[in-house]
Amino acid sequence: GALVTRDAGVTIFAGSCLGGGSTINWTGSFRTPDYILDEWANDHGFLAAKGSAFRAGEGAVMSALGTNRDHSPHNPQNDALWRGSEVLGNPVEVIERNVVGCQVDGCKACGYCGLGCRRGTKQSTVRTWLPRATAAGARILVNTTVQCVSSHLGAATGVEGWTRSPEGRRIGIRIRAKRVVVAAGSVQTPALLLRSGLNHPKLGFNLFFHPTVAVAGFYKDRIAPWYGPMMSAVNKAGIRLDGNYGYWVETPPLHPGTAALALPWISGKQHKQDLLRVGNMASFIVLTRDKYGGRVQVDRQGNARVAYALHSYDRAHLLKGVQAAFQIHRAAGASDVIFPHNSRKQLLCNASQVDRDAFLHGMPGWGWGPNQFALFTAHQMGTCALGGDAALHPVAPDGSFRGLRGLFIADGSLMPTSAGINPMIPIMALAHWVGKGME
Ligand SMILES: Cc1cc2nc3c(=O)[nH]c(=O)nc-3n(C[C@H](O)[C@H](O)[C@H](O)COP(=O)(O)OP(=O)(O)OC[C@H]3O[C@@H](n4cnc5c(N)ncnc54)[C@H](O)[C@@H]3O)c2cc1C
Repeated sequence: GALVTRDAGVTIFAGSCLGGGSTINWTGSFRTPDYILDEWANDHGFLAAKGSAFRAGEGAVMSALGTNRDHSPHNPQNDALWRGSEVLGNPVEVIERNVVGCQVDGCKACGYCGLGCRRGTKQSTVRTWLPRATAAGARILVNTTVQCVSSHLGAATGVEGWTRSPEGRRIGIRIRAKRVVVAAGSVQTPALLLRSGLNHPKLGFNLFFHPTVAVAGFYKDRIAPWYGPMMSAVNKAGIRLDGNYGYWVETPPLHPGTAALALPWISGKQHKQDLLRVGNMASFIVLTRDKYGGRVQVDRQGNARVAYALHSYDRAHLLKGVQAAFQIHRAAGASDVIFPHNSRKQLLCNASQVDRDAFLHGMPGWGWGPNQFALFTAHQMGTCALGGDAALHPVAPDGSFRGLRGLFIADGSLMPTSAGINPMIPIMALAHWVGKGME
């Protein structure tokens, strides 16, 4: 589903379905970078992040998901990212993916995996962890909303909420349990805890987004960005621009509807002209590792309300990434590039060096406040940080919530800082760590 922040400045994408984000995500499978684990250990007292057990758990996660590079042939869009990066001498890598046995024309003919894999070759939670859980006796309730965690005398006693009958009738449920694990994602986990009357001075704070924009390049040859592996190449030239902070560049699966959402709109006529060229368009996404986060609160009805303001420090990295994306498109042979700004700025790749430099130099002055450009997040992290300081971290290093015995958290909300890379594997590694500790 899609959600927006309070000022509508950021569109939030997440998988609101069985299996969560892993059901609809783009299958990029990355280990947590060493320097991020160092940060979590050294700055947040999650000492296990540096231990061999955590890495072994991450390895077990990758093996359960069958991650490999055999299903990462480049479609034309990823090929453009690869080619342009190589021409510029930038480091570019083939992305490992959690896909097994996808033989549809060597992975190139499909491209709908971002809507859920109908062939079952994507190794999402639905194909991996949930079958294991049911085999071990777990019962799964779909179409079910947990309203609150119930408790008695400082200990969790279960959850309450409602489910839907096949006819759509709402049925209240109450589940009793000695231990409760919440994994509703970085927006809904803190909302659920707040609705349950739980509190901690930092609960809901430090919501990270990996703020993301798309930079579209147009090519003479057909790109058809809706076909093939969604994301098979990554350019990490800017990933550590300043210490552990910077940006990286990947590609999205671009179906015409998504392109219509992402391209700037100045008039119906212009928009139609741009969309008529979508078959020749390659889009690069610039993802930024944000240092400064937002906050999740709940309104009077208990619904999540998300506030996030892009900090000038993070915005500077984002804009450097946008400039880099232009250079990659140009090096890959694009004719022109449309920038992710409401004014629909366009730059011809054969413009003179003087004109190009002046254009890119002026970019920070275009105005990059909320709603002046299309800003997305598909990576929500933080809000229930785990760590060693009881005043700063709502969750202890073993995943237990400070303040209610028997309550554990096991999702992206545990991250004390943003992952700095696509977070599915780091999140599952954290959940694996918590699960192992509960055994
Ligand atoms: C379009 C897209 C593409 C992505 N591509 C990649 C990628 O290629 N590689 C990568 O590493 N990461 C990717 N991600 C990010 C990754 O999928 C997410 O970061 C990850 O799935 C988050 O895991 P989570 O467990 O924190 O939360 P989620 O996966 O969001 O799981 C939360 C679950 O809780 C459920 N829930 C929420 N509230 C309640 C409630 N009150 N009661 C009951 N259930 C509830 C939700 O429906 C959902 O099923 C992508 C994300 C998106 C949206």
